[in-house]
Amino acid sequence: MSLKGTLYIISAPSGAGKTSLVRQLLSRDAQVRVSVSHTTRAMRPGEANGTDYNFVTQAQFNDMINDGQFLEFAEVFDNKYGTSQTWVQQELDQGTDVILEIDWQGAAQVRRLMPEAVSIFILPPSREALRARLTGRGQDDVSVIERRMADAVSEMSHYAEFDYMVINDEFDLALSELQAVLVTRRLRQSAQQQRHAGLITDLLSE
Ligand code: 5GP
Repeated sequence: MSLKGTLYIISAPSGAGKTSLVRQLLSRDAQVRVSVSHTTRAMRPGEANGTDYNFVTQAQFNDMINDGQFLEFAEVFDNKYGTSQTWVQQELDQGTDVILEIDWQGAAQVRRLMPEAVSIFILPPSREALRARLTGRGQDDVSVIERRMADAVSEMSHYAEFDYMVINDEFDLALSELQAVLVTRRLRQSAQQQRHAGLITDLLSE
């Protein structure tokens, strides 16, 4: 039997630094890939179709739902987001680890379908730090920032549903903690036994 990849769910309120952490993690770990979600939201400056998201229309998104193409999907901040079932399954079957950067609603759906998935929640180090990160370049008015804070609090209220929790205070420390979760998972006895079957047979021979 070939070794299957592990599915990781990473969630966080916006402003916690999740995307930067995942980007760094990917650049240091060739055994893991991130799923590119489909979304109905408009592309932001600097984003690329197919890299940050697959940008689709509302009608295309609905067709994908009806075709059963999503492993999970949810409405987040008035836009729809979904994860491709086929892509994720193909990668896992090939033994690649897969990261889903999704919200708590998607995380709950994936957990129900794939209870073996490992989930990680990333938190900011303080309310002030979160507010500062959500304030951006100071171009947004107070009501916009308050709305973002309320959305962040609502997302964070689900932290206890996750297996692991990482506080992103010092970036490098948070990154090594994330890496530690992946490494620990790979070192599980059952996985190692499969990976090193020849070695074990050899070591135990009389
Ligand atoms: P943004 O539009 O700022 O990139 O993402 C907004 C939120 O949508 C984030 O919390 C992000 O985790 C979530 N999100 C992105 N892709 C997906 C997805 O495929 N499924 C779900 N459920 N949430 C997603």
